[in-house]
Amino acid sequence: MTEIRRRDPRREWVARNRLHPEHASVLAALGDIGGRGAASEWLGPQGVVRRNPHAVGFIGPNGVRRIDRSGAQQGGEAPGGTRQAVKDDRRRVEIPEPAFLVAVVPDMAGGRLSGHDKDLLGLARRLADADPERPGAVLAVIFGQHKGEGGGEMKEQAFGEAGIDRVLHLEDDAYAGFAPEARLAALSAVEREWAPRHWLLPDSPLGGADLGRRLAARLGERPATGVWQLEADAGSPLGWRCTARGAAESLDILRPLPRVALALAECAEPVDETRHAAEPLALGSELPALLSRVEDLGQVAVDPAGVALAEAEFILSGGNGVKDWDGFHHAARMLGATEGASRVAVDDGHMARDRQVGATGTWVTARVYLAVGISGAIQHLQGIQGCDKVVAINMDSGCDMIKRADLAVIGDSAPVLEALVALVEQAREEKRDAA
Ligand SMILES: Cc1cc2nc3c(=O)[nH]c(=O)nc-3n(C[C@H](O)[C@H](O)[C@H](O)COP(=O)(O)OP(=O)(O)OC[C@H]3O[C@@H](n4cnc5c(N)ncnc54)[C@H](O)[C@@H]3O)c2cc1C
Repeated sequence: MTEIRRRDPRREWVARNRLHPEHASVLAALGDIGGRGAASEWLGPQGVVRRNPHAVGFIGPNGVRRIDRSGAQQGGEAPGGTRQAVKDDRRRVEIPEPAFLVAVVPDMAGGRLSGHDKDLLGLARRLADADPERPGAVLAVIFGQHKGEGGGEMKEQAFGEAGIDRVLHLEDDAYAGFAPEARLAALSAVEREWAPRHWLLPDSPLGGADLGRRLAARLGERPATGVWQLEADAGSPLGWRCTARGAAESLDILRPLPRVALALAECAEPVDETRHAAEPLALGSELPALLSRVEDLGQVAVDPAGVALAEAEFILSGGNGVKDWDGFHHAARMLGATEGASRVAVDDGHMARDRQVGATGTWVTARVYLAVGISGAIQHLQGIQGCDKVVAINMDSGCDMIKRADLAVIGDSAPVLEALVALVEQAREEKRDAA
C-alpha cells in the first residue's frame, strides 16, 4: 500500500523559522523522518530532500554567502537546553616557506577587521593559493590597536581565521589616527625588506583609498583602483587580470593586475574554510624617527542630525513599528546616531523625505544600522546592503529584518529604546565618576 504523506504546515513553518523556540526540536524530528538524523537535511512531504541553509551558512541580501560561527543558527539549543558545541572543522594551513608574499593593509576601522577587510583578505588568498605547488603567504600590516575579542592568542585566531599567514603589527602611537607619512614609511620598509609580489588595500574613502594611492606613488607603480573582480590570465605580467570600476562608476575597465591594487567591498568571498598561522613578524631594522608634517587633531564633533545619510556611520532608523516618535528622536540624540526611516514612516509624515533609506531613498553604508519597527521589505533591505552590522528591534521574530540582522531584540520598540537610553546614561555617568 502506498504511504500517504500528510503535510503539517505549522511544523514546516517552524522548521523554516530559525528563531522559533521549537525550531531545533522540529528540525531534529524532520531529520529523523528522513532517516538521516541530520538537522541540515530532511525529507519533505513530497519525498524531496529539503535543506536547511542556516545550518551551513546562508546567502546574505547582498548575495554573499555568510557563515554563522556563533552556533546560534546551527540548530540553536540542543533539546536539553544546552547549546551544542560548534564543531571547528576548519582546515589548518601553514606555509613555512612561501614562494612569495601578498601584502594586505586592512583598514581595521574601530580596531577590528571590517567586512571590507575580510573580503580583501579573501582576494589575497586567491592570489596566494593559485598555485598549490608554490603557495604564497598573506602578510597583513596592521596599524594601531587591535580591539578583537580576548587577549593575544584570540587576536591571532581572529587574524588566522581571516586568512592571514603573517602579521606585522605596528602598534606605536605614531601610526594611530591619520598618519600617512608614518604609515607610508613603514610600508616602504616592508617593501625594502620583503618586496611583496602584490600589495592590496581596501578602496575605502576613510582608509585604504588614500594610503594605497600614496603607496603606489611612492613605489612608482600605476595602481588599479575600484577592483572588484580577478581572473587568472597567463598573458599578464603577474598572471592575473582585474576588472575595475572607472569613470565615476559608469564603466568597467579590464586590465592586467598591477602590483598595487585597491579593491572594493565584495571583491571576493571572505575566508571561511581554513585557519592560517597569523605568525607575528618584525621588521629587521628600526624605522627612522619621522618629523611628521601632518598632525591628527582628532575627529571634529558634528551634529549627527546634520550628517548626510549616505555618509553616516551609525544610523537609528524608524519604521511603522515606532509608536513613540519623541522617544525615538530622544534615543537618536542620546546615542549620537543619524536618523533614518522606512518609506512608510516618511509617507506618514513622521520623518523628512531625505531620511528615507532604501531603493527609492538613500543607499547607506553605516557601520551600525539600528532598525526599529521596520519589517525588512526588499526595497528597504536593498538600501542597507552595504551596512556592516544590522541590529533590529521588532515585535515579529519572523520578519525579514530580523533574518537580516546580526543582533535582534524581540519586543515593543518604545520600552526597548528607553532601556537602551538608560544604559547609555548610566555608562556615561560611570565614566564621568571614574574620571
Ligand atoms: C516601488 C517601491 C519602492 C519602495 N521603496 C522603498 C524604499 O526605498 N524604502 C522603504 O523603506 N520602503 C520602500 N518601499 C515600501 C516597502 O515595500 C515597504 O512597504 C516599507 O518598507 C515598509 O515599511 P515598514 O517596515 O516601516 O512598515 P511595515 O511593513 O508596516 O512594518 C512594520 C514593522 O514594525 C513591527 N512593529 C509593529 N509594532 C511594533 C512595536 N510596537 N515595536 C516594534 N516593532 C513593531 C512589525 O512587526 C513590522 O515588522 C517601496 C515600495 C515600492 C512598491
